[in-house]
Amino acid sequence: MTIHVLNGFSKRLPWPPYRKIGAVCSLAETNDGLLLVDTGLGLGDYHNPSRMMRDFMAVMHAVRDPEIAIVRQLTRLGYQPADVRHIVLTHLHLDHAGGLPDFPHATVHLFQREYEAWKRPRKLLEIPYDKSHFAHGPRWQLHRLEGERWYDFDAVRIAGIQPEVWLVPLAGHTSGHCGVAIETETGWLFQVGDAVPANLQFDWFSVLLYRPTIGAQVPRLKAFAASHPEVRMVAGHMGLDFFEKEKTP
Ligand SMILES: [Zn+2]
Repeated sequence: MTIHVLNGFSKRLPWPPYRKIGAVCSLAETNDGLLLVDTGLGLGDYHNPSRMMRDFMAVMHAVRDPEIAIVRQLTRLGYQPADVRHIVLTHLHLDHAGGLPDFPHATVHLFQREYEAWKRPRKLLEIPYDKSHFAHGPRWQLHRLEGERWYDFDAVRIAGIQPEVWLVPLAGHTSGHCGVAIETETGWLFQVGDAVPANLQFDWFSVLLYRPTIGAQVPRLKAFAASHPEVRMVAGHMGLDFFEKEKTP
């Protein structure tokens, strides 16, 4: 079973030394085609960006190269866009869901609460949802908690997919934000999106600085990562060197 951990969008850290960071998008082979966790930006964001996306790219010093779009990268890996049958989203923010229009035939798995946050935003961080990413009418499959657990987290397993894939609600950054756990040969890949600082920087300064935007999950996730070496945790945004290492077989 192969998992590619790809960078779906590059931007600049907003503080010195202004390192570039990428957006983690995992592409997994499953029993039912390819499954993609988060999409980064899509081709439309480079060629015909919305006003919101233009502003976002300017503020974030985005790398404006459509070859970074996941749909281009997976073609270079030897797959076809139609091979992506499932997309699982940590949340609907514009830098995580921008590639949805590139995969109109995929089933899009999302936590119900995140869908509701998009429809009825209640806080500042529920505004950066770009409606152009959903205009094509994604094939939503909404999930709600039904009493299952992944480790000691309330979670929902995506039925019918092997290896196991779980949506793990980690509310805070947005109300319906989730981590996504994918079973691997040696344990789990746990993509926790924007519930932790970029690069999994768990030092007190980063945690304090970002607490208003990433929410309250950091202490729990930090302790969980420390006590479960078989779980490989990755943040939603990692340094470019991280992605370079991922390319090395
Ligand atoms: Zn976000």
